[in-house]
Amino acid sequence: MLATANSDIIFLAEGLPHGDTHPFNEARFTLKDGSNITLTGKTLTSALQYGPTEGYPELLQRLREFQERFHNPPGLDDRDVIATVGAQDGLCKMIELCLDFGDAVVVPAPTYSGVLAMLRPYRPQFLSIEEDKYGMCPHKLRNELNRFWSMSHNGGIKPPKLLYLNPTASNPSGTVMHIERKKELYEVASDFNLLILEDDPYYFLHFSDKEPQSFLSIDTEGRVIRFDSFSKVFSSGLRLGFMTGPRAIMQVVEYHMQASVLHTSSLSQVLALKLLDQLGWDGFTKYMQNIRKFYFDRRNYMSEVARKHLKGKADWRMPDGGMFLWMKVKGVPDVYDMVMKRGVHGKGVMLVPGHAFMPDPSLPCPFIRASYSLASLEDIDQGLSRLSELITEEQKHHLT
Ligand code: PMP
Repeated sequence: MLATANSDIIFLAEGLPHGDTHPFNEARFTLKDGSNITLTGKTLTSALQYGPTEGYPELLQRLREFQERFHNPPGLDDRDVIATVGAQDGLCKMIELCLDFGDAVVVPAPTYSGVLAMLRPYRPQFLSIEEDKYGMCPHKLRNELNRFWSMSHNGGIKPPKLLYLNPTASNPSGTVMHIERKKELYEVASDFNLLILEDDPYYFLHFSDKEPQSFLSIDTEGRVIRFDSFSKVFSSGLRLGFMTGPRAIMQVVEYHMQASVLHTSSLSQVLALKLLDQLGWDGFTKYMQNIRKFYFDRRNYMSEVARKHLKGKADWRMPDGGMFLWMKVKGVPDVYDMVMKRGVHGKGVMLVPGHAFMPDPSLPCPFIRASYSLASLEDIDQGLSRLSELITEEQKHHLT
């Protein structure tokens, strides 16, 4: 913790700019229900000032309550919570702290592209484990780890330390892992002594009645580092997330933050705190239900439109949460040029080729990610209609 958190100390050391020089007198945010969050006086001053590296103390208190309420992990007192610049920042720091050049790392297939981007500079050996409709397959994970361990025994290669998972509404596949699957994966992680990076920014964006039970909630061995985020529920521009893990590990992350960003935005933290306080936990839960409904309706709309335009041209599973439809195009073994060249420049439709979610993007890939989060309903319809034409032309090309 930085000395700035202790109010008894006379500051003659640190270079904190004086609050009187700030140009702001008041910050007011009007919520969509017409209520206000107004920051003035001391609260505004601390929202505009440097703060403790691990986070704004009152927010951290609220985030501990959050973890207790939604996950109730064993031994919460032995874990710390740190406010991060989104989930991305926490993940990146953990990878930087744990990975050496050429190390092996376990990821699901497909994997969130942002994590692959963090991993690639280390030129890791990817142990890429297939998913089924509930996420990573535990028996495939065990087989691959057994194979790797016997190989590493002979060749002196280091076994992997990290298992990256994105359990709720996985980006891009939209799978939601149930608790039995998590327990099975946890057991494998325990047998092979892996740290689990539980990247869960879509935790509230599942399409079922109940919040999923997390890896954190079953972590009896202190091997789970959980990454939460306000990006998908309050605002991604706040750049505010939080990571939770065993105290010793969080301490090292805090040193990393001290050196890299000092801390995440005080203004964002104070705003999130005031919003959480204004909503209360029941209000927060209700608010999450509304967000879930928003994406649920859009998911239904896109899959209806997909059935209309893409039947027989692509296969997909109904996403169980999140913002994406993950499709496998039929009869086109590699969709890259179709999407990036003929799709963007010819048809005028922008999608993400599945290559972005594969450890080796140079390999042919028939998958596409289509997002239903932002486009208007008309554009979703029109976009998939254009994709349909594109696939038809491409399939003809492959047949000739
Ligand atoms: N993990 C996943 C799976 C994501 O999809 C994203 C956002 N695209 C992130 C992490 C990063 O989120 P944040 O805005 O909290 O940094």
